[in-house]
Amino acid sequence: MIATDPKASIKGGEFLIKETDASQVFIPEEFSEEQQMIAATCREFLEREIWTRLDEIDQAKSPELIASLMDKAGELGLLGTSVPEEYGGFGMSFNTSMLVTEITGAGHSFSVALSAHTGIGTLPIVYYGNDDQKSKYLPKLATGEWKAAYCLTEPDSGSDANSGKTKANLSEDGKHYVINGQKMWITNGGFADLFIVFAKIDDDKNLSAFIVEKSFGGITMNEPEHKMGIKGSDTRQIFFNDCQVPVENLLSTRGNGFKIAVNILNVGRIKLGVAAVGGAKEVINNAIRYANERKQFGTLISGFGAIRHKLAEMAVKVYACETACYRAGQNIDDLIESLKASGTTDAEAKLKALEQFAIECAMMKVHGSEVLDYVVDEGVQVYGGMGYSADAPMDRAYRDARINRIFEGTNEINRMLTVDMTLKRTMKGELDLMGPAMAVSKEIMSIPDFSTEEEEVLFAAEKKVLRNLKKAVLMVAGAAVQKLMMKLSEEQEILMNLADMMIEVYVAESVLLRVEKQIAVKGESAMALQKDLALVYLHEAVEKINNAGRSAISSFAESDEMRVMLMGLKRFTKIDPLNLKDTRRRIADAMIAENKYIF
Ligand SMILES: Cc1cc2nc3c(=O)[nH]c(=O)nc-3n(C[C@H](O)[C@H](O)[C@H](O)COP(=O)(O)OP(=O)(O)OC[C@H]3O[C@@H](n4cnc5c(N)ncnc54)[C@H](O)[C@@H]3O)c2cc1C
Repeated sequence: MIATDPKASIKGGEFLIKETDASQVFIPEEFSEEQQMIAATCREFLEREIWTRLDEIDQAKSPELIASLMDKAGELGLLGTSVPEEYGGFGMSFNTSMLVTEITGAGHSFSVALSAHTGIGTLPIVYYGNDDQKSKYLPKLATGEWKAAYCLTEPDSGSDANSGKTKANLSEDGKHYVINGQKMWITNGGFADLFIVFAKIDDDKNLSAFIVEKSFGGITMNEPEHKMGIKGSDTRQIFFNDCQVPVENLLSTRGNGFKIAVNILNVGRIKLGVAAVGGAKEVINNAIRYANERKQFGTLISGFGAIRHKLAEMAVKVYACETACYRAGQNIDDLIESLKASGTTDAEAKLKALEQFAIECAMMKVHGSEVLDYVVDEGVQVYGGMGYSADAPMDRAYRDARINRIFEGTNEINRMLTVDMTLKRTMKGELDLMGPAMAVSKEIMSIPDFSTEEEEVLFAAEKKVLRNLKKAVLMVAGAAVQKLMMKLSEEQEILMNLADMMIEVYVAESVLLRVEKQIAVKGESAMALQKDLALVYLHEAVEKINNAGRSAISSFAESDEMRVMLMGLKRFTKIDPLNLKDTRRRIADAMIAENKYIF
């Protein structure tokens, strides 16, 4: 069923049916010196400009402070990472821009403002702008001279983004589109000079996208929203009242707006995943430091097994999420390069690559945001009562993290997209899941394979587990499709289960490949802790896949069919026991000794 594939030809979603060789994945340890220097610059910027004034940023009554910090980020070149050099940016690779996003992801409200500007605010022009639009706007956006916002959501149009009511009507002289409508939850709204606005021309079914300068007039806004967290990020309702936009500011073509919105969100999603990693690492650092200072019952709380369990769990999840984000990021980079080599333009290559890995982008959004929420929640717990104090760092981290499961497409929407895109590609013949799924359904009727893998081969047993986990996904997804057909889309609970199974397979495989690749270079004893991280993740993934699989199977199968599938699931989620307590303790103890997250 499973074959290895050369790296440039791996497709989005194919991890379910193909085995990737460790040599083909990118791992964070491979970031070049130059990339590490960029990361160090971002870190210094955070330490100097942001972490010293987190309260001030969150309490600011006007957006000037956050806008001025964006200016400083612009001076350092942090706003132009994804803008091509010919338009005043640095044209960095996708994974380099991911690295910048990870580090700045620990910047709380500031990181939201930064991502909105560099991502959803700027990228529509990078990817879809014509030469005139790029020359006119990108140099200003790359330096931060102008700040950008992205106006998609409306009061009655959130997850159902294409249902927006904002209108763009052509003026009588044919020179302008006149935009009327209301947008909601617009990040950077209060200080943006440029808005990417989605509106429908006349009675079009689909949105179009426009580049709207604030100076065009006809733009008013409410006071900043009062929010649970990211309080320093400026979020507004914006009203467009006869806002006159020159026809040349239509982005791409009429009716292409929804596609632009979706494709730009692909970038936003994977970057949100990696930004969550950056935020989570900082929370772990604080939790370890606190645990190493706080004494109860005459001993440091970092000595308690319950606390060590928490610290290790945080690290396992963050390490795994980081791994999967950069693996997918490199897949995107590789495809961009291979498309460019065959003559595709830079912008087109980027778009195609992101579209190809849209499944992974959606998965990483869900995983990253939920790992961060797990980490901040346990972070509060490690701090005990001080975790609930607004004067200690966990309060802000806890509140700020929560938005990540909501914006860039809610996690429910992204879970559905994960499955929906996979099934659509299968139906179109772009992804060959049918054959492998049929093979699995035959396999569950046959005698189980009791053979054991050769022990000397590194991760032989774990890779067998992974192959089986993929079979579990194929079995459940294949049966659900066969049984429910078109009705599957109405059975969202099952879609959620399937998405969870896919995410866990992808992340568990990624983390195992990372450690395998490192061991090949540094040897097993040097990588013992990383191996521990991978094994704990794998064991937990097996359990989650088993739970999600059981839940799905019992939702659509009955009597004998259910029994056979549950037996199949049991077979495919078998893993030899491991002393997880001791494994986690080794991970925690190493971090406690160094007083920080060390992976
Ligand atoms: C702080 C903040 C900043 C933001 N910044 C921006 C920005 O800069 N630009 C911008 O355009 N937007 C922005 N947004 C908007 C954000 O993208 C939306 O809030 C988000 O997409 C969800 O839309 P909604 O709030 O209307 O929720 P709804 O769509 O009403 O969803 C409510 C609940 O129903 C669920 N749901 C909805 N549809 C389905 C379905 N079909 N099946 C199952 N469940 C479903 C959702 O998952 C959610 O749990 C921001 C929001 C916030 C809070």
